[in-house]
Amino acid sequence: MATIASLPQEQSAIRWHPPSYDIRLETIPVPKIQNPDDVIVKVKLAALCGSDLHIYRGHGGVTAVHTCGHEFIGEVVELGSSYGAASAKGRPALYSSLKVGDKVVSPFTVSCGECHVCRLGYTGRCPEGFLFGSPALEGGQAQYVRVPKGGGTLFSLSDPTTWSSSLSNELKEKALTGLADSSLLMLADILPTGVFAAQQAINHPKVAPVVTGKPWPLCFSQADLAPGNEVGLTTEDRTLTVAIIGLGPVGVCAAVSMLDVVTTRQLPFRIVAIDPIEARREKMKAVYAAIDAGGKGTGDFAVCSIDEAKDKVKEWTGGVGCTAVLEVVGNTSALTLAYDLVRAFGVIVSVGVHGEPPLPLTGRQCYNKNVSLDFGRCPARAMFPIAFDLLVKRQDVFGGVGEAASLIDKVVDFTEAAESYEQFDKGKVGKVIFDPWK
Ligand SMILES: [Zn+2]
Ligand SMILES: [Zn+2]
Repeated sequence: MATIASLPQEQSAIRWHPPSYDIRLETIPVPKIQNPDDVIVKVKLAALCGSDLHIYRGHGGVTAVHTCGHEFIGEVVELGSSYGAASAKGRPALYSSLKVGDKVVSPFTVSCGECHVCRLGYTGRCPEGFLFGSPALEGGQAQYVRVPKGGGTLFSLSDPTTWSSSLSNELKEKALTGLADSSLLMLADILPTGVFAAQQAINHPKVAPVVTGKPWPLCFSQADLAPGNEVGLTTEDRTLTVAIIGLGPVGVCAAVSMLDVVTTRQLPFRIVAIDPIEARREKMKAVYAAIDAGGKGTGDFAVCSIDEAKDKVKEWTGGVGCTAVLEVVGNTSALTLAYDLVRAFGVIVSVGVHGEPPLPLTGRQCYNKNVSLDFGRCPARAMFPIAFDLLVKRQDVFGGVGEAASLIDKVVDFTEAAESYEQFDKGKVGKVIFDPWK
């Protein structure tokens, strides 16, 4: 077992207590290796996330005291016996290469990287997976965190040859030296989740006629069938109209990712980004303003309140509706709005964390619009290569802290934990990062 000799016995951690709204800074034992595949990470920065609020508010059905947080970046301080062992051959690369001292970022869930589900890329639902910051697995808002299945879960930022990217290893290394830890921390959740929403929409079969310029289902034909009696698609037909509902940090990431996809592929587009809260709309506008002309492309990009958005989509599409709607909130009113905005044969991609209430759509509503619904947790590990490339490309948005276009408002120390949760919950502050050592 490789370790840094002087790991302390105790550490500070941000802990949640039931039933709700009770965050305490506590002294607890430093985690120990429990399984040969475990890694102990010394946390450099840990972020507060919108989905932490479900448990904070008592909505998660959780009753056990636990350490919060599922977004963290840090340094390896201890490795289980699997690492560097002969048995590491044929397993994910990090079981052979990860070393004490390596800088790592973790996706927000554990994934083994070796099972059928992980091999297919659905890492967010690995049967051996756990969510950090839940009763099942202590979170990253602590000075140290235990990462089960570390070789399948973590990304080594010290060795970019161990993960793929469209950038060369040389460019990856160069990029990594220029990226702040606060920026890299977005790879734990918010950026991959935003990219996931955009990717699910753009790659959905319902969107294929718009993207390929061939009517459904000829757009899927291997034989490259030419349309027969049909008239050709117009520019209007080929314009992708996308609504993004919810402009918290993930919603902004989804908007930036969608914009990147359509400009890179040179697709005609109209995007409407929607939030009822003015401060969030202002943030979205500042982010859009920070993106260079090439990144903005030639399509329309509107930032709207809910009523304005309904009018905008009507105006743009003559009442037909959006090709795709990204729902990044996770409640029934957001889903109802998504249904109102989507066209027949459209797709709703929901990445918000939905709770107990039943879906607000009837079977008849779904039937009458031929609507596709995509739900669920982002497989953050699988999304990492695309998210990393976007992080590098869009440092104008993802690079800063506390600026008009920054997704991160401030970096605070642990003593401000309870206050930060309270302010974040009330919408008085945007994304906050904790420095456990400040
Ligand atoms: Zn998160
Ligand atoms: Zn797995």
